[in-house]
Amino acid sequence: MENCLFCKIAEKKIPSAIVYEDEDLLAFKDINPAAPVHLLLIPKKHFSTLSDCSANEAPLLGKMLALAPRLAEEAGCGVNYDADGSPTGGYKTLINSGPNGGQEVYHLHLHVIGGPHPWRGQR
Ligand code: ADP
Repeated sequence: MENCLFCKIAEKKIPSAIVYEDEDLLAFKDINPAAPVHLLLIPKKHFSTLSDCSANEAPLLGKMLALAPRLAEEAGCGVNYDADGSPTGGYKTLINSGPNGGQEVYHLHLHVIGGPHPWRGQR
C-alpha cells in the first residue's frame, strides 16, 4: 500500500534490521525499543489493523503467533525452565489496534518484547 511505512519496509524501500523473512512474513527490530529485545512481526500483505482481518486470515495470523516464540528464543528471551521446572525468561506478544488500543502505525504488527522491563508483573 502506498505511503504505508511497514509496506515500504516489507518492500525494502526503507531499511530495517531484519531478523526473519519468509514469503508471508517479515520480522525486524523496533527502532525505539521498549526493552532489551523488541521485534515487530508483520505480514507482507497490508492489513491496517487486526480488525481488518477476517476468518480467512486465520492461517496467516496463526503463523504469526506460532513464529513469535521462535523469534523470542533466537533473540535470547525465550521461555526456559529451571532444573526444578520453574519457568524463566520470557516476552510479551502485543498487537495494538486502533487509536484507543495505542496503534500508531496502521499496518498490522505483532510486538515481541522481551527481557527485564518495567511491565514485569503487570498486565
Ligand atoms: P506504539 O508506538 O504505541 O507501540 P504501534 O503498536 O503502532 O504503536 O507500534 C508501532 C511501532 O513501530 C513502535 O514501537 C515504533 O517504535 C515502531 N517503528 C516506527 N517506525 C519504525 C521503523 N522505521 N523501523 C522500526 N520500527 C519502527
